[in-house]
Amino acid sequence: MRIVRFSPDDMLELKKPHPCGSKLFRVVRVGSEVRIICSGCGRDLTLDRPRLEKSIKKVITKEEKEKEKEKNV
Ligand SMILES: [Zn+2]
Repeated sequence: MRIVRFSPDDMLELKKPHPCGSKLFRVVRVGSEVRIICSGCGRDLTLDRPRLEKSIKKVITKEEKEKEKEKNV
């Protein structure tokens, strides 16, 4: 089984978009349940970790986000 690693402040791209159309979610809290905030509408969701891991397409870590910012400057 694939292990998905993420931590608070990372961004997750999910396979299924939120009803608002955004696929990007920010991780707020990680435990047996994971709390994420939709980057499109700001709504927060709490999902059990195994279910969330199955729906993750991509993890964008804090470090990667910083690199992106530097590139754009
Ligand atoms: Zn949303």
